[in-house]
Amino acid sequence: MKKLISFLLIYCSVSTFGQDYKPIDSADYSQRTSFIRSFSLNTENLIKNSKDRYSGKQGSELAKIYKELGKEFENKVKEKDFAFNSVFDSELKNLIDRLRKNNPQIPQNLKILVAKDNTPNAYCFADGTFVVNMGLFSWLNNDDQLAAVISHELGHKISEHTLKILLGIIDQNKMDKMVVHDIKSTRENRNEKAFDVLKNRIYRKGAENRKQEMQADSLGYVIFRNSDFKKNEFVNVLKRLEDFDTISPRELKVETYRKYFNLPNQAFNEKWLKKEDFSLYNYNHFKEKLNKDSLRSHPEVSLRIDNLKKLFPELKSEVTDGKPSASYAILEKIARMETLPNFYHSEDYGVGIYTSLQFLQDGEEEKYYQSWLGKCFVKIYEARKNYNLNRYLDRVDPKNQSESYQQFLNFMWNLSLDEIKNIADYYQTKTS
Ligand SMILES: [Zn+2]
Repeated sequence: MKKLISFLLIYCSVSTFGQDYKPIDSADYSQRTSFIRSFSLNTENLIKNSKDRYSGKQGSELAKIYKELGKEFENKVKEKDFAFNSVFDSELKNLIDRLRKNNPQIPQNLKILVAKDNTPNAYCFADGTFVVNMGLFSWLNNDDQLAAVISHELGHKISEHTLKILLGIIDQNKMDKMVVHDIKSTRENRNEKAFDVLKNRIYRKGAENRKQEMQADSLGYVIFRNSDFKKNEFVNVLKRLEDFDTISPRELKVETYRKYFNLPNQAFNEKWLKKEDFSLYNYNHFKEKLNKDSLRSHPEVSLRIDNLKKLFPELKSEVTDGKPSASYAILEKIARMETLPNFYHSEDYGVGIYTSLQFLQDGEEEKYYQSWLGKCFVKIYEARKNYNLNRYLDRVDPKNQSESYQQFLNFMWNLSLDEIKNIADYYQTKTS
Protein backbone atom coordinates (compact mmCIF):
# COMPACT_ATOMS: atom_id res chain seq x y z
CA MET A 1 0.00 0.00 0.00
CA LYS A 2 2.78 2.36 0.91
CA LYS A 3 4.30 1.79 -2.51
CA LEU A 4 1.00 2.55 -4.19
CA ILE A 5 0.66 5.82 -2.28
CA SER A 6 4.11 7.01 -3.21
CA PHE A 7 3.40 5.97 -6.78
CA LEU A 8 0.22 8.02 -6.81
CA LEU A 9 1.97 10.98 -5.23
CA ILE A 10 4.67 10.90 -7.86
CA TYR A 11 2.03 10.48 -10.52
CA CYS A 12 0.17 13.57 -9.35
CA SER A 13 3.31 15.61 -9.21
CA VAL A 14 4.19 14.39 -12.69
CA SER A 15 0.87 15.37 -14.16
CA THR A 16 1.15 18.90 -12.83
CA PHE A 17 4.95 18.76 -13.00
CA GLY A 18 7.00 21.74 -13.97
CA GLN A 19 6.58 24.65 -11.64
CA ASP A 20 6.18 22.46 -8.59
CA TYR A 21 8.65 19.72 -9.44
CA LYS A 22 10.87 18.94 -6.46
CA PRO A 23 14.13 17.20 -7.29
CA ILE A 24 14.53 13.72 -5.83
CA ASP A 25 15.06 13.86 -2.10
CA SER A 26 18.55 12.92 -0.99
CA ALA A 27 17.49 12.57 2.67
CA ASP A 28 17.91 8.83 2.38
CA TYR A 29 20.43 8.31 5.17
CA SER A 30 18.98 5.04 6.45
CA GLN A 31 18.79 3.44 2.98
CA ARG A 32 22.32 4.52 2.20
CA THR A 33 23.72 3.15 5.45
CA SER A 34 21.92 -0.16 5.14
CA PHE A 35 23.13 -0.51 1.55
CA ILE A 36 26.72 0.19 2.60
CA ARG A 37 26.45 -2.36 5.41
CA SER A 38 25.38 -5.17 3.07
CA PHE A 39 27.75 -4.03 0.32
CA SER A 40 30.81 -4.13 2.57
CA LEU A 41 29.75 -7.56 3.81
CA ASN A 42 29.51 -8.75 0.20
CA THR A 43 32.92 -7.28 -0.53
CA GLU A 44 34.42 -9.12 2.45
CA ASN A 45 32.93 -12.38 1.20
CA LEU A 46 34.19 -11.68 -2.30
CA ILE A 47 37.70 -11.09 -0.98
CA LYS A 48 37.58 -14.24 1.12
CA ASN A 49 36.31 -16.31 -1.81
CA SER A 50 38.90 -15.01 -4.22
CA LYS A 51 41.68 -15.82 -1.75
CA ASP A 52 40.29 -19.36 -1.50
CA ARG A 53 39.86 -19.67 -5.24
CA TYR A 54 43.18 -18.15 -6.31
CA SER A 55 46.38 -18.74 -4.45
CA GLY A 56 49.50 -16.64 -4.12
CA LYS A 57 49.91 -13.35 -5.89
CA GLN A 58 46.72 -13.72 -7.93
CA GLY A 59 44.61 -14.08 -4.81
CA SER A 60 46.24 -11.30 -2.86
CA GLU A 61 46.27 -8.84 -5.77
CA LEU A 62 42.63 -9.62 -6.52
CA ALA A 63 41.76 -9.03 -2.87
CA LYS A 64 43.60 -5.71 -2.95
CA ILE A 65 41.71 -4.55 -6.03
CA TYR A 66 38.31 -5.60 -4.69
CA LYS A 67 39.04 -3.86 -1.43
CA GLU A 68 40.06 -0.63 -3.15
CA LEU A 69 37.19 -0.64 -5.64
CA GLY A 70 34.77 -1.45 -2.82
CA LYS A 71 36.05 1.40 -0.69
CA GLU A 72 35.77 3.82 -3.57
CA PHE A 73 32.26 2.69 -4.36
CA GLU A 74 31.22 3.09 -0.72
CA ASN A 75 32.52 6.65 -0.81
CA LYS A 76 30.44 7.37 -3.86
CA VAL A 77 27.37 6.09 -2.05
CA LYS A 78 28.22 8.31 0.94
CA GLU A 79 28.63 11.29 -1.39
CA LYS A 80 25.06 10.70 -2.58
CA ASP A 81 25.98 9.74 -6.12
CA PHE A 82 23.02 7.36 -6.12
CA ALA A 83 19.31 7.99 -5.82
CA PHE A 84 17.53 5.68 -3.40
CA ASN A 85 14.09 6.19 -4.80
CA SER A 86 11.15 3.81 -4.47
CA VAL A 87 9.65 4.65 -7.86
CA PHE A 88 12.84 3.82 -9.76
CA ASP A 89 13.43 0.78 -7.54
CA SER A 90 10.02 -0.75 -8.11
CA GLU A 91 10.25 -0.31 -11.88
CA LEU A 92 13.65 -2.02 -11.91
CA LYS A 93 12.46 -4.79 -9.60
CA ASN A 94 9.55 -5.38 -11.94
CA LEU A 95 11.87 -5.64 -14.96
CA ILE A 96 14.19 -8.06 -13.15
CA ASP A 97 11.26 -10.22 -12.07
CA ARG A 98 10.09 -10.43 -15.67
CA LEU A 99 13.60 -11.43 -16.76
CA ARG A 100 13.88 -14.02 -14.00
CA LYS A 101 10.77 -15.97 -15.00
CA ASN A 102 12.42 -18.35 -17.46
CA ASN A 103 16.02 -17.64 -16.54
CA PRO A 104 17.23 -19.54 -13.47
CA GLN A 105 20.79 -18.55 -14.38
CA ILE A 106 20.18 -14.98 -13.17
CA PRO A 107 21.94 -14.65 -9.79
CA GLN A 108 19.67 -14.27 -6.75
CA ASN A 109 21.74 -11.63 -4.95
CA LEU A 110 21.29 -8.80 -7.45
CA LYS A 111 21.14 -5.29 -6.08
CA ILE A 112 20.46 -2.43 -8.47
CA LEU A 113 21.40 1.17 -7.76
CA VAL A 114 20.37 4.21 -9.79
CA ALA A 115 23.26 6.65 -10.32
CA LYS A 116 22.65 10.40 -10.59
CA ASP A 117 24.41 10.41 -13.91
CA ASN A 118 22.94 11.63 -17.21
CA THR A 119 25.03 9.31 -19.39
CA PRO A 120 22.97 6.33 -20.55
CA ASN A 121 25.19 3.63 -19.14
CA ALA A 122 25.12 0.63 -16.85
CA TYR A 123 27.73 -1.56 -15.21
CA CYS A 124 27.99 -4.35 -12.70
CA PHE A 125 30.35 -5.19 -9.87
CA ALA A 126 31.78 -8.59 -9.13
CA ASP A 127 29.69 -8.84 -5.94
CA GLY A 128 26.41 -8.63 -7.87
CA THR A 129 25.69 -4.91 -7.49
CA PHE A 130 24.37 -3.37 -10.69
CA VAL A 131 24.49 0.33 -11.42
CA VAL A 132 21.98 1.83 -13.82
CA ASN A 133 22.51 5.49 -14.71
CA MET A 134 19.49 7.76 -14.62
CA GLY A 135 20.42 8.86 -18.14
CA LEU A 136 19.14 5.50 -19.41
CA PHE A 137 15.62 6.40 -18.33
CA SER A 138 15.62 9.69 -20.20
CA TRP A 139 17.47 8.44 -23.28
CA LEU A 140 15.91 5.01 -23.90
CA ASN A 141 12.45 4.79 -25.37
CA ASN A 142 10.74 2.03 -23.41
CA ASP A 143 10.89 -0.70 -20.74
CA ASP A 144 12.04 -3.31 -23.24
CA GLN A 145 15.14 -1.29 -24.10
CA LEU A 146 16.04 -0.86 -20.44
CA ALA A 147 15.55 -4.59 -19.89
CA ALA A 148 17.85 -5.20 -22.88
CA VAL A 149 20.62 -3.11 -21.27
CA ILE A 150 20.21 -4.99 -17.99
CA SER A 151 20.29 -8.33 -19.85
CA HIS A 152 23.54 -7.31 -21.53
CA GLU A 153 25.04 -6.54 -18.10
CA LEU A 154 23.78 -9.87 -16.82
CA GLY A 155 25.69 -11.42 -19.71
CA HIS A 156 28.87 -9.80 -18.39
CA LYS A 157 28.07 -10.89 -14.85
CA ILE A 158 27.32 -14.50 -15.75
CA SER A 159 30.53 -14.83 -17.77
CA GLU A 160 32.52 -13.17 -14.95
CA HIS A 161 34.04 -10.66 -17.34
CA THR A 162 35.23 -8.27 -14.64
CA LEU A 163 37.08 -11.09 -12.90
CA LYS A 164 38.69 -12.21 -16.17
CA ILE A 165 39.93 -8.72 -16.98
CA LEU A 166 41.33 -8.31 -13.47
CA LEU A 167 43.13 -11.66 -13.64
CA GLY A 168 44.52 -10.69 -17.03
CA ILE A 169 45.84 -7.44 -15.64
CA ILE A 170 47.39 -9.15 -12.62
CA ASP A 171 49.02 -11.84 -14.75
CA GLN A 172 50.62 -9.42 -17.11
CA ASN A 173 51.76 -7.28 -14.27
CA LYS A 174 50.14 -4.41 -16.08
CA MET A 175 48.62 -3.19 -12.89
CA ASP A 176 52.00 -2.17 -11.49
CA LYS A 177 52.99 -0.51 -14.72
CA MET A 178 49.80 1.50 -14.86
CA VAL A 179 50.18 2.63 -11.28
CA VAL A 180 53.79 3.66 -11.84
CA HIS A 181 52.89 5.48 -15.00
CA ASP A 182 50.10 7.29 -13.27
CA ILE A 183 52.03 8.30 -10.19
CA LYS A 184 54.66 9.81 -12.43
CA SER A 185 52.16 11.98 -14.22
CA THR A 186 50.26 13.26 -11.21
CA ARG A 187 50.96 14.19 -7.63
CA GLU A 188 47.42 14.56 -6.43
CA ASN A 189 45.00 11.75 -5.77
CA ARG A 190 47.50 9.10 -6.72
CA ASN A 191 45.36 6.15 -5.77
CA GLU A 192 42.23 7.55 -7.25
CA LYS A 193 43.99 8.20 -10.55
CA ALA A 194 45.45 4.72 -10.70
CA PHE A 195 42.07 3.18 -10.11
CA ASP A 196 40.49 5.39 -12.71
CA VAL A 197 42.82 3.86 -15.24
CA LEU A 198 41.91 0.42 -14.01
CA LYS A 199 38.21 1.15 -14.12
CA ASN A 200 38.46 2.52 -17.60
CA ARG A 201 40.01 -0.73 -18.65
CA ILE A 202 37.21 -2.65 -17.02
CA TYR A 203 34.27 -0.65 -18.22
CA ARG A 204 35.21 1.18 -21.35
CA LYS A 205 34.18 -0.46 -24.56
CA GLY A 206 37.46 -0.45 -26.38
CA ALA A 207 38.56 -2.68 -29.22
CA GLU A 208 40.10 -5.23 -26.88
CA ASN A 209 36.82 -5.56 -25.07
CA ARG A 210 34.91 -6.16 -28.27
CA LYS A 211 34.92 -9.91 -27.84
CA GLN A 212 33.50 -9.61 -24.34
CA GLU A 213 30.89 -7.14 -25.54
CA MET A 214 29.73 -9.56 -28.20
CA GLN A 215 29.66 -12.38 -25.69
CA ALA A 216 27.60 -10.26 -23.28
CA ASP A 217 25.31 -9.35 -26.19
CA SER A 218 24.59 -12.94 -27.15
CA LEU A 219 24.28 -14.24 -23.57
CA GLY A 220 22.19 -11.21 -22.68
CA TYR A 221 19.96 -11.71 -25.69
CA VAL A 222 19.26 -15.32 -24.75
CA ILE A 223 18.06 -14.13 -21.34
CA PHE A 224 16.06 -11.35 -22.97
CA ARG A 225 14.48 -13.71 -25.52
CA ASN A 226 13.39 -16.13 -22.78
CA SER A 227 11.25 -13.42 -21.23
CA ASP A 228 8.26 -11.54 -22.58
CA PHE A 229 9.99 -8.43 -23.92
CA LYS A 230 9.86 -7.39 -27.58
CA LYS A 231 12.88 -9.10 -29.13
CA ASN A 232 13.89 -6.49 -31.67
CA GLU A 233 14.28 -3.82 -29.02
CA PHE A 234 17.57 -5.54 -28.18
CA VAL A 235 18.94 -4.24 -31.47
CA ASN A 236 17.08 -0.93 -31.30
CA VAL A 237 18.71 -0.08 -27.98
CA LEU A 238 22.19 -0.48 -29.44
CA LYS A 239 21.31 1.99 -32.18
CA ARG A 240 19.74 4.34 -29.66
CA LEU A 241 22.84 4.32 -27.44
CA GLU A 242 25.04 5.00 -30.43
CA ASP A 243 23.18 8.27 -31.01
CA PHE A 244 24.04 9.68 -27.61
CA ASP A 245 26.34 12.66 -27.13
CA THR A 246 27.46 13.79 -23.67
CA ILE A 247 26.60 17.35 -24.60
CA SER A 248 23.36 17.55 -26.51
CA PRO A 249 23.95 18.60 -30.13
CA ARG A 250 20.76 20.72 -30.15
CA GLU A 251 21.79 24.15 -31.46
CA LEU A 252 21.55 27.11 -29.12
CA LYS A 253 20.36 30.09 -31.15
CA VAL A 254 21.77 33.59 -30.75
CA GLU A 255 18.23 34.86 -30.02
CA THR A 256 18.17 32.63 -26.95
CA TYR A 257 21.20 34.43 -25.50
CA ARG A 258 19.56 37.78 -26.27
CA LYS A 259 16.34 36.65 -24.63
CA TYR A 260 17.79 35.35 -21.37
CA PHE A 261 20.70 37.74 -20.86
CA ASN A 262 19.08 41.06 -21.66
CA LEU A 263 18.28 41.97 -18.05
CA PRO A 264 16.57 45.05 -16.57
CA ASN A 265 19.79 46.13 -14.87
CA GLN A 266 22.19 44.86 -17.50
CA ALA A 267 21.41 45.23 -21.19
CA PHE A 268 22.61 42.52 -23.56
CA ASN A 269 26.06 43.24 -24.94
CA GLU A 270 26.71 41.96 -28.48
CA LYS A 271 30.41 41.73 -27.64
CA TRP A 272 29.64 38.77 -25.39
CA LEU A 273 29.07 36.70 -28.53
CA LYS A 274 32.49 37.46 -29.96
CA LYS A 275 34.37 34.31 -30.84
CA GLU A 276 38.01 33.56 -30.27
CA ASP A 277 40.00 33.57 -33.48
CA PHE A 278 41.02 30.06 -34.37
CA SER A 279 42.16 30.89 -37.89
CA LEU A 280 45.63 29.83 -36.88
CA TYR A 281 44.26 26.34 -36.53
CA ASN A 282 43.48 24.54 -39.70
CA TYR A 283 39.85 24.61 -38.78
CA ASN A 284 38.45 22.87 -41.84
CA HIS A 285 40.76 19.99 -41.28
CA PHE A 286 39.48 19.57 -37.75
CA LYS A 287 35.90 19.92 -38.86
CA GLU A 288 36.34 17.11 -41.30
CA LYS A 289 38.05 15.01 -38.68
CA LEU A 290 35.31 15.72 -36.17
CA ASN A 291 32.65 14.52 -38.57
CA LYS A 292 34.60 11.40 -39.36
CA ASP A 293 35.47 10.44 -35.81
CA SER A 294 32.27 11.45 -34.16
CA LEU A 295 30.52 9.01 -31.85
CA ARG A 296 27.92 8.43 -34.49
CA SER A 297 30.25 6.59 -36.78
CA HIS A 298 31.42 4.21 -34.09
CA PRO A 299 32.11 0.94 -35.89
CA GLU A 300 31.71 -1.08 -32.68
CA VAL A 301 27.96 -0.93 -32.59
CA SER A 302 27.32 -1.96 -36.17
CA LEU A 303 29.71 -4.89 -35.71
CA ARG A 304 27.82 -5.92 -32.60
CA ILE A 305 24.48 -5.65 -34.39
CA ASP A 306 25.79 -7.73 -37.31
CA ASN A 307 27.02 -10.34 -34.86
CA LEU A 308 23.60 -10.57 -33.20
CA LYS A 309 21.78 -10.82 -36.52
CA LYS A 310 24.09 -13.59 -37.62
CA LEU A 311 23.56 -15.62 -34.44
CA PHE A 312 19.84 -14.87 -34.13
CA PRO A 313 18.17 -14.55 -37.54
CA GLU A 314 14.88 -13.40 -35.96
CA LEU A 315 16.63 -10.08 -35.29
CA LYS A 316 17.12 -9.40 -38.99
CA SER A 317 13.79 -7.68 -39.48
CA GLU A 318 13.72 -3.99 -38.57
CA VAL A 319 11.06 -2.96 -36.08
CA THR A 320 10.54 0.62 -34.91
CA ASP A 321 10.94 1.51 -31.24
CA GLY A 322 7.85 0.68 -29.19
CA LYS A 323 5.88 3.02 -26.95
CA PRO A 324 6.77 3.15 -23.24
CA SER A 325 4.46 1.79 -20.55
CA ALA A 326 2.74 4.37 -18.31
CA SER A 327 5.15 3.70 -15.45
CA TYR A 328 8.17 4.04 -17.73
CA ALA A 329 6.85 7.31 -19.14
CA ILE A 330 6.68 8.70 -15.61
CA LEU A 331 10.27 7.70 -14.90
CA GLU A 332 11.36 9.10 -18.24
CA LYS A 333 9.91 12.45 -17.26
CA ILE A 334 11.42 12.32 -13.76
CA ALA A 335 14.84 11.45 -15.17
CA ARG A 336 14.52 14.37 -17.59
CA MET A 337 13.67 16.72 -14.75
CA GLU A 338 16.68 15.35 -12.83
CA THR A 339 19.08 16.26 -15.65
CA LEU A 340 19.97 19.57 -14.03
CA PRO A 341 20.10 18.31 -10.42
CA ASN A 342 22.46 15.60 -11.72
CA PHE A 343 24.77 18.07 -13.49
CA TYR A 344 24.72 20.24 -10.37
CA HIS A 345 25.56 17.26 -8.18
CA SER A 346 28.58 16.40 -10.34
CA GLU A 347 29.58 20.10 -10.37
CA ASP A 348 29.21 20.38 -14.16
CA TYR A 349 27.95 23.95 -13.87
CA GLY A 350 28.98 25.08 -17.36
CA VAL A 351 27.23 22.18 -19.08
CA GLY A 352 24.33 22.76 -16.67
CA ILE A 353 23.87 26.32 -17.94
CA TYR A 354 24.14 25.21 -21.55
CA THR A 355 21.56 22.48 -21.01
CA SER A 356 19.19 24.80 -19.10
CA LEU A 357 19.31 27.22 -22.03
CA GLN A 358 18.50 24.41 -24.46
CA PHE A 359 15.46 23.43 -22.39
CA LEU A 360 14.41 27.09 -22.15
CA GLN A 361 14.82 27.54 -25.89
CA ASP A 362 12.45 24.60 -26.37
CA GLY A 363 9.94 26.35 -24.11
CA GLU A 364 10.14 23.64 -21.47
CA GLU A 365 9.40 24.30 -17.77
CA GLU A 366 10.39 27.98 -17.89
CA LYS A 367 10.57 28.73 -14.18
CA TYR A 368 12.28 25.47 -13.30
CA TYR A 369 15.14 25.91 -15.76
CA GLN A 370 15.50 29.61 -14.97
CA SER A 371 16.07 28.65 -11.34
CA TRP A 372 18.78 26.16 -12.36
CA LEU A 373 20.31 28.87 -14.53
CA GLY A 374 20.52 31.00 -11.39
CA LYS A 375 21.98 28.22 -9.24
CA CYS A 376 24.66 27.36 -11.77
CA PHE A 377 25.58 31.01 -12.34
CA VAL A 378 26.11 31.44 -8.58
CA LYS A 379 28.64 28.58 -8.71
CA ILE A 380 30.28 30.00 -11.84
CA TYR A 381 30.58 33.36 -10.05
CA GLU A 382 32.23 31.77 -7.01
CA ALA A 383 34.62 29.83 -9.22
CA ARG A 384 35.54 32.88 -11.27
CA LYS A 385 36.16 34.85 -8.09
CA ASN A 386 38.41 32.07 -6.78
CA TYR A 387 40.31 31.71 -10.06
CA ASN A 388 39.23 28.11 -10.61
CA LEU A 389 36.62 28.50 -13.32
CA ASN A 390 38.59 26.05 -15.48
CA ARG A 391 37.36 23.28 -13.24
CA TYR A 392 33.70 23.93 -14.04
CA LEU A 393 33.71 25.45 -17.51
CA ASP A 394 35.39 23.92 -20.56
CA ARG A 395 37.86 25.84 -22.66
CA VAL A 396 37.05 26.34 -26.33
CA ASP A 397 38.37 23.37 -28.27
CA PRO A 398 37.48 23.51 -31.98
CA LYS A 399 38.73 19.98 -32.44
CA ASN A 400 36.20 18.36 -30.18
CA GLN A 401 33.21 20.66 -29.79
CA SER A 402 30.18 21.55 -31.86
CA GLU A 403 30.02 25.14 -33.13
CA SER A 404 27.05 25.84 -30.90
CA TYR A 405 28.91 24.69 -27.78
CA GLN A 406 31.98 26.70 -28.78
CA GLN A 407 29.79 29.79 -29.14
CA PHE A 408 28.44 29.13 -25.66
CA LEU A 409 31.92 28.79 -24.14
CA ASN A 410 33.05 31.99 -25.85
CA PHE A 411 30.03 33.75 -24.40
CA MET A 412 30.74 32.47 -20.89
CA TRP A 413 34.45 33.32 -20.97
CA ASN A 414 33.65 36.81 -22.35
CA LEU A 415 31.54 37.71 -19.30
CA SER A 416 33.22 39.81 -16.61
CA LEU A 417 33.00 38.92 -12.91
CA ASP A 418 30.42 41.66 -12.32
CA GLU A 419 28.34 40.62 -15.29
CA ILE A 420 28.28 37.03 -14.04
CA LYS A 421 27.19 38.25 -10.62
CA ASN A 422 24.36 40.32 -12.10
CA ILE A 423 23.06 37.32 -14.02
CA ALA A 424 23.32 35.08 -10.95
CA ASP A 425 21.52 37.62 -8.76
CA TYR A 426 18.81 38.23 -11.32
CA TYR A 427 17.85 34.58 -11.73
CA GLN A 428 18.27 33.77 -8.04
CA THR A 429 15.92 36.56 -6.98
CA LYS A 430 13.50 36.04 -9.84
CA THR A 431 12.92 32.37 -9.13
CA SER A 432 13.18 32.23 -5.35
ZN1 LIG B 1 29.10 -4.34 -22.04
